[in-house]
Amino acid sequence: MLKPNMYYDQLKESYLFYNIAQKTKKYLELHPEQTLLRMGIGDVSLPLCDAVIRALHEAVNEQAEKESFHGYMPECGALFLREAITEYYKRNGIRLSADEVFVSSGASDELGDLLDLFDRKNSALVIEPAYPAYVDANTMAGREIIHLTSGKENGFLPDPGEDDKADILYICSPNNPTGAVFSYEQLQKWVDFANENGSVILFDAAYEAFIEEDLPHSIFELEGAKTCAIEICSLSKTAGFTGTRLGYTVIPKELQRNGMNLNEMWVRNRTTKTNGVSYIIQKGGAAVFTEEGQKQIHSNIRIYKKNAHVLMEVLDKLGIWYTGGKNAPYIWMKCPEGMGSWEFFDYLLNEIQVVGTPGAGFGECGEGYFRFSTFGSPEDTKEAAKRLLALFSR
Ligand code: PLP
Repeated sequence: MLKPNMYYDQLKESYLFYNIAQKTKKYLELHPEQTLLRMGIGDVSLPLCDAVIRALHEAVNEQAEKESFHGYMPECGALFLREAITEYYKRNGIRLSADEVFVSSGASDELGDLLDLFDRKNSALVIEPAYPAYVDANTMAGREIIHLTSGKENGFLPDPGEDDKADILYICSPNNPTGAVFSYEQLQKWVDFANENGSVILFDAAYEAFIEEDLPHSIFELEGAKTCAIEICSLSKTAGFTGTRLGYTVIPKELQRNGMNLNEMWVRNRTTKTNGVSYIIQKGGAAVFTEEGQKQIHSNIRIYKKNAHVLMEVLDKLGIWYTGGKNAPYIWMKCPEGMGSWEFFDYLLNEIQVVGTPGAGFGECGEGYFRFSTFGSPEDTKEAAKRLLALFSR
């Protein structure tokens, strides 16, 4: 009889979003007159910008004509998009060749697929609280996971220590859920640590476009990163592609382990396991990297940032500790009055009909914290902030 992958049996049930949905449903059944302010969502609310929509329409029209029709696309990405991305990296002084950039259909897909590059016996270090896919994807693959907890004392940005010597190191900056961003100095410590130990960093830069202070957007801004890091990016939050699906991954040619070149391995993987991302979507993605596209996506990001400022202002007034918001679309706050994450969730739901995300859902050290997303509408965010202020000023 076939033996399935029994590591699936070790996956922890993901109760987080299920529980949130159940609790809110039950609340609305009991209080049908109420409307909820949903501040927990990790999905964008603004539509694709004009430059992208125009490029998508043009590409659809091209597909209608024999002369301009495109069939299979190159597995690793269309050259026009790979080149546009290398140009984008130049703004931070990073030189890449187009064949170090791999076009993907999103960061989630890549975070799972990239694990094909590593041996099952490799260990993986996850800095927690963390995006749950890091732990789950490695559990499915049967890998040992080292959980590095972080907290208020280090601003949720821990330095590497002796016990953190894992083969694969996950770093997400700006972080989901905490919104915290590693400084150049802090990130350099991780790069040096990875090079010293022969580890590979999987650097999740899904939120880099939200950085407004002088902080690293890419791990390749750091000395020595090309010999120890892979960067995973996404247009989901940057440009509203959550439903359109496009991302990219950078694997430098210098990245070698045990005589194997990881860039070449990934080319081999992609040419075996995909037939590329749709021409139409790649055309839409390329429009993001034009001058016009950049202006338009940043005007959308500014709207989310304004939401963040509205919430941060209230937390500042109330003297509640938080991180994030300034360089990320998430605000990670300490639950007031010693409340637990779920206790605070229930309290906000019942008292002011605001729904957020309990921090405990992102790892044990998230207990006692709460995440607000800033991707909602400005109207809902303002109303939620007003109710929060009133609730804690009573
Ligand atoms: N990485 C992080 C840290 C995320 O928060 C998310 C989505 O919320 C992803 C990756 C997945 O992005 P994508 O939509 O490109 O799959």
